[in-house]
Amino acid sequence: MEQLKICGTCGTHYLPHASSDVCEICNDDRQYIPDGGQIWITPDQLQRNNSVRLHKLHERVYELQIKPTFAIGQRALLILSDQGNILWDCIPLLNEPTISFIKTHGGLKAIAFSHPHYYSNMNDWAEVFDCKIYIHQNDEQWIFNMNNHINLWTGQEKKLWDGIRLINIGGHFPGSSILHVPFLSKEGTVFCGDTLAIAPNKKHIAVMYSYPNRIPLSLQEMNRIKNRLDKIPFDSLYGFYSDQNLSEDVKKILAASLHQYI
Ligand SMILES: [Zn+2]
Ligand SMILES: [Zn+2]
Repeated sequence: MEQLKICGTCGTHYLPHASSDVCEICNDDRQYIPDGGQIWITPDQLQRNNSVRLHKLHERVYELQIKPTFAIGQRALLILSDQGNILWDCIPLLNEPTISFIKTHGGLKAIAFSHPHYYSNMNDWAEVFDCKIYIHQNDEQWIFNMNNHINLWTGQEKKLWDGIRLINIGGHFPGSSILHVPFLSKEGTVFCGDTLAIAPNKKHIAVMYSYPNRIPLSLQEMNRIKNRLDKIPFDSLYGFYSDQNLSEDVKKILAASLHQYI
């Protein structure tokens, strides 16, 4: 059987006969093709050369990251919940130690996505754990391997279980969404992917169309996003990268940051 090909810059998996010679995710103006040109690798190479680091962030939250760092350096977050665990976003490598770790912690009821920069090998994960995948319908065009595990949701909000909600915010992508989990902190915890980006100094939260290419959103979009976020209670934030965790003054920092844009 011919192997899938993996984009070395973002980790997206494509069928071996995918029509384009370049990764469609990276060829979009929110990402980039590296100076040396498109890099393709195989799942075997990734399995051989990399491993997954599992790190506990909270009694009910584990971070999963590929080591050495691969693709954009993205992380996935495993959220343990009474009525079923959720994997928030995805990493392009699923190996035996990771499968066994997740299974001993109750498996997965669903994988929920913030946006297309994480889709990578989502179908492998959904098949191994026999779980649903939640993606906002606005980002359907970025799904390159449609599978019957994928549930496209619509509208501004989708209620899951144990009070957990998916909320569509838009901005970075039309379907960009956050996951709101009420039981991890007093006011609620938001998992934001790239919808919000916590700066390294932890004093600013950026909201952009493209982070690597520094492309801003329009003033109208920023106002719309501010109004959406104002109505959502939270005091804790987990972002795209490992260092993007914030649990102090989150709303204050967000308000001050958005004020600078608007
Ligand atoms: Zn790519
Ligand atoms: Zn992104």
